[in-house]
Amino acid sequence: MKKILHTFALLFITLLLLSCSSSFYGIDNGTDNGTGNGLGNETSPSVVDNTKACNKGAVRLSADFSTGRMDKCQLVAENEYLITLIPESTPINSSPWYAFKVEADQPTKIKITMKVQGDKHRYPPKIKRASKSWQLQKHQINNGRLTMTLIATPKASFIAAQEIIDNNYYIDWANKLLSDGIITHELLGESTQGRPIYKLESKAKTNEWLVILGRMHPPEVTGALALFPFVENLFSTSNLAIDFRNKYNILIIPNINPDGVAVGNWRYNANGLDLNRDWIDFSQVETQQINKYLQALVSKGDKIKFAVDFHSTQEDVFYSMPVDYGVEQPYFVKHWLATLDKIMPNFTVVTKPGNTPNNGVSKQYFSDNFNIHAITYEVGDNTDRRKIVDIAINASNTLMTTLLLNEDHNQE
Ligand SMILES: [Zn+2]
Repeated sequence: MKKILHTFALLFITLLLLSCSSSFYGIDNGTDNGTGNGLGNETSPSVVDNTKACNKGAVRLSADFSTGRMDKCQLVAENEYLITLIPESTPINSSPWYAFKVEADQPTKIKITMKVQGDKHRYPPKIKRASKSWQLQKHQINNGRLTMTLIATPKASFIAAQEIIDNNYYIDWANKLLSDGIITHELLGESTQGRPIYKLESKAKTNEWLVILGRMHPPEVTGALALFPFVENLFSTSNLAIDFRNKYNILIIPNINPDGVAVGNWRYNANGLDLNRDWIDFSQVETQQINKYLQALVSKGDKIKFAVDFHSTQEDVFYSMPVDYGVEQPYFVKHWLATLDKIMPNFTVVTKPGNTPNNGVSKQYFSDNFNIHAITYEVGDNTDRRKIVDIAINASNTLMTTLLLNEDHNQE
């Protein structure tokens, strides 16, 4: 397992070596704290197949792969392209996603302009050239138009809003974790379009559960970049992790919206609905199946003890329920995150408690249904990738410690 973790750590450090200042972009999007848009409208999302014009000739731009998206592509002059990004539905959280591939018969300088229909850019472009790691791509933004020049080559390069983490990536990741026989990787159910939704589990000889959720919102890749090391750390061979797994069952559902991930949606599932506004109505199969599974655990006498739901926004922030919300161990989150803040002198933990009744966010679902605290773990879009891993491992360690210590969290 150590070797696996080492490999993962290297993978993250090499694959995801990029950092940029969040002040570089005036990102101003909605949050996952129950504010912003409610459910989207009922129109069915579809990827506009307007991209064929750019996928012929000596230079080719295409998005015909999982997560690929460039809703409209036009050849506007020789080797100059205009891409228009169009949301799957409106109104929508401002998270314009794009991912496309560039290749050419011979090295050719090209210019790409991207505009967003009815919105503005959120994600600075990253490029992955053959066998290289993801890098920030040089670009300018003027009047909402993002422009970049690059050399297209016979070996395809990928350009995307964030590092590409597709549905298969999750399966490969889970399979690598399986080697020690600590955990199981099984089908929990299927998405709206029939894609598999997997769960990872480790079983203790007790009835208490830690629940981890991820990727309700497809472009929120930094949330995934935190979930991976957070979970790997729970399954490590450290004494802390072994003690933890003896005391707590762990359930991880890392990729809740595989339909949205596959087509590069900005926010919604295949029915055009925000899954993190559906934890009261359960109108969607994705949330329905998770609720059913958790309720079944509780029906047989098990106890959901804590839940973490990974997302991304402008900054690193932990959304919690207020201490006076009236659920058990009211100061649990406060105590945990104070410990995290203390052991990371170069990282200031920002916690934003919030109560948003009738909004259907997962953290409130856990509080309302299981009488516990839960958090939305938000990772900044542009947080340094090594720092994401560092914070996640420390958050994972301190969460385990806090859950293992039999402390009273009823007092400040
Ligand atoms: Zn989110």
